[in-house]
Amino acid sequence: MARDQYTFTNPVELYSEIEPRKGHQEEPGLDADLAPQADLGEDTYRGTGRLTGRKALITGGDSGIGAATAIAFAREGADVALSYLPEEEEDAQRIAGILREAGATVLTLPGDLKDKEYCVGLVAQTVEGLGGLDILVNNGGKQIYSEDITELPDEQFDHTFTTNVDAMFWITKAAVPHLPAGSTIINTTSIQAYSPSETLVDYASTKATINAFTKALAQQLAPKGIRVNAVAPGPIWTPLQVTDGQPPEKLEQFGEDTPLGRMGQPAELAPAYVFLASPESSYVLGETLNVNGGMPTP
Ligand code: NAD
Ligand code: MG
Repeated sequence: MARDQYTFTNPVELYSEIEPRKGHQEEPGLDADLAPQADLGEDTYRGTGRLTGRKALITGGDSGIGAATAIAFAREGADVALSYLPEEEEDAQRIAGILREAGATVLTLPGDLKDKEYCVGLVAQTVEGLGGLDILVNNGGKQIYSEDITELPDEQFDHTFTTNVDAMFWITKAAVPHLPAGSTIINTTSIQAYSPSETLVDYASTKATINAFTKALAQQLAPKGIRVNAVAPGPIWTPLQVTDGQPPEKLEQFGEDTPLGRMGQPAELAPAYVFLASPESSYVLGETLNVNGGMPTP
């Protein structure tokens, strides 16, 4: 039998043959053009009905961590709405095809997370198109490195916050009235929330904000039976990293400083989202699940 996510494997050796390469793409970048290709779990993720009948909205669901999560959700039995930028249609259509093959109803909803009307409409379109909503994954994000704060453009600072924080607020605010008890919200934060890089002042600040937002909102929504949690990835091979997410010269060593000694693949994140989305994590709230190759966190 081919390997799946349950196959007993040495995590040091798993994916160790996939070496990051110094490539560059214009923002937002495509998984289709990522070399080497990332593993989104297309050939390995095996569902066991953990999200049967659920209805999920995933921002940044076209590529990287969001796409791997979408594949896992669909194979676990969920219907899925994907949010992404219009430039990412190629990636989104490929993922939508994989989800439909798994039997999912899929909505493809392109637009700009910096636009409040789009964010609010995203929730309405999902509720209408899927007949409800009970999993929200706020995962879309912007990361552009900058070596000197005096050269960090005001516009970039603003766009990083709007994309990573404001959109999460707008979408969550619009979603909550629709979420039945048992629903789950999962926000994507980062190791950057605890160990910020000197070149990611704006991005790291948004990720610390996402952690605080998650822990505050989890307490507020707990009495309604809505659980809010976060996933904090470490260095994961996605288009985000080759679209000026890192200084290009740092890419070749990407992930080597983790205890596992390698970068992670989006497929290794998906099970964390499935766990937090599913009722099996019923007593887990306000938690940040670190998936980072072993880097210590508070
Ligand atoms: P990715 O590029 O595949 O995904 C990011 C997605 O964000 C894009 O696909 C895009 O659809 C969406 N997006 C960005 N700006 C947008 C906008 N203005 N409007 C609509 N959509 C927009 O990269 P990824 O690494 O999978 O990123 C997913 C999440 O994981 C992000 O929140 C990122 O901060 C976080 N993260 C990534 C890493 C990593 O090493 N790759 C580490 C920690 C956290
Ligand atoms: Mg993308």
